[in-house]
Amino acid sequence: MIQFNHISKSFERNGKRFLATKDVNLHIAEGEFLTVIGPSGCGKSTVLNMCAGLMKPSSGEVLYRGQLVTGVNTKVGYMTQKDNLLPWRTVKGNVEIGLEIRGMSAREREEQSSAYIELVGLKGFENHYPQELSGGMRKRASLAKMLVYNPETLLLDEPFGALDAQLRLILQDKLLQIWRDTGKTIIFVTHDLDEAVSLGQRVAVFSKRPGTIKSVKEVNLSGKRDVFNIRFTDEFRRVHASLWEALKEEFMEEEERVV
Ligand code: ADP
Repeated sequence: MIQFNHISKSFERNGKRFLATKDVNLHIAEGEFLTVIGPSGCGKSTVLNMCAGLMKPSSGEVLYRGQLVTGVNTKVGYMTQKDNLLPWRTVKGNVEIGLEIRGMSAREREEQSSAYIELVGLKGFENHYPQELSGGMRKRASLAKMLVYNPETLLLDEPFGALDAQLRLILQDKLLQIWRDTGKTIIFVTHDLDEAVSLGQRVAVFSKRPGTIKSVKEVNLSGKRDVFNIRFTDEFRRVHASLWEALKEEFMEEEERVV
């Protein structure tokens, strides 16, 4: 479904070029849930931006269903770290923006938006403005805003990063439920190893900048994935321990740099 082939990306800062990502190779199958983890600044968002067609690689290529991504990739929905809700629009108004742009009739819009607002658990809050919502509710609204387009692939960049641990579990569970029900392909970026192993069928570990893929591990669970209890399974402990080995050097050096 998605192929990152030898992707490198450089940027310029203070008149000097630097490499953000280097030779990233990763193939994602249709319907797969892939999580991506790595220290901050290693190029995770850059890779998502390239998949969404918002940035071009400096070298290498991104293929989507075998086609080179050259412009905005309309097959993907992208939830960035900021929730991008317009403060002057209600939840319903925010969710319906894309449908309005497509020229959908008010009745159809209403039907679609109320279905997705209910799906994310915001029924009853349709007429609230973003500033009247809690952090978790804003994330739910952003999720509905992305899902209403019915994109076949979801790109999620630390979507639950700012939430407290309990609320995160609830939204992770919701996302897994949506994934199971719809069969969408998901790339989910996080800097939380527990979250990466809880959600991903595979977890890709990025090195520090210039980010490249250091390790990819499968999380093989028998039966349905249960985010509330997965941490007590042997498979979770096994994969977590092995990924931590790969990750800790990257994070230690980051810590030393900060100090
Ligand atoms: P991550 O998502 O892993 O935290 P990013 O992909 O956001 O990392 O950024 C990787 C590096 O590239 C960082 O050093 C960041 O400052 C730099 N960078 C990202 N986007 C741009 C840009 N548009 N212009 C210049 N530098 C950028």
